[in-house]
Amino acid sequence: MVGTVPRRHKGKIMKVCDNEVVGALVEDPRGRLLLITRATYPSGRAPLCGHRDDHGDWIAAAVAETFEEAGLTVDTLTPFMLSWMPNRCRRVPGPIGVGHNWTLFKATVTGDLSLNPEEASAAAWYSQEQLQELADRTVAYCKGQVPEEQWQADPGLEPAWVVLLSMPSWTTGWPIRVEPRDRAAVVSVAAGNPPGGPVPVHLMTFAAFRW
Ligand SMILES: [Zn+2]
Repeated sequence: MVGTVPRRHKGKIMKVCDNEVVGALVEDPRGRLLLITRATYPSGRAPLCGHRDDHGDWIAAAVAETFEEAGLTVDTLTPFMLSWMPNRCRRVPGPIGVGHNWTLFKATVTGDLSLNPEEASAAAWYSQEQLQELADRTVAYCKGQVPEEQWQADPGLEPAWVVLLSMPSWTTGWPIRVEPRDRAAVVSVAAGNPPGGPVPVHLMTFAAFRW
């Protein structure tokens, strides 16, 4: 089947995307959200997340990703969002092309934070105000107003998460605001297009109707 066979890139076997991502939003007792600074493409700060792969069901995948990325043990998971987004990952596009079905959980955890250096270079807790500031930086970056080296040195929220956290279907915690005229630029960069460039029509449509 197309998209299920590993490809080679510079001699390395490239993993194929399964078009399914699970995310775990972990909150501390002060109501702040845990974000890691991603060590791999796409760059940015982001909640814990990863492909479902062969982890089993969504719950098993959320438990596994939380432990693999941050060394934390999940106590409880509350599902609250399921959404398609045409965002690009670092893998070969999957059976249904570029994009992912995102299943998001709110998670409570135990244990001490212990980052996997292959996945994250840093982690910190962010208040609602700080989250909005990161999202504002992402919007500026996606519009071509933040040079790439400045973004890499001090990234905002990963563009795909700006899209997710500003959807009206977001029903719990950490909503962020993005001006309607800025939405398409963020969707376009999440889909793998360069910041500040023209936005393909199908992404404009997504930004207008799936937000
Ligand atoms: Zn993927």
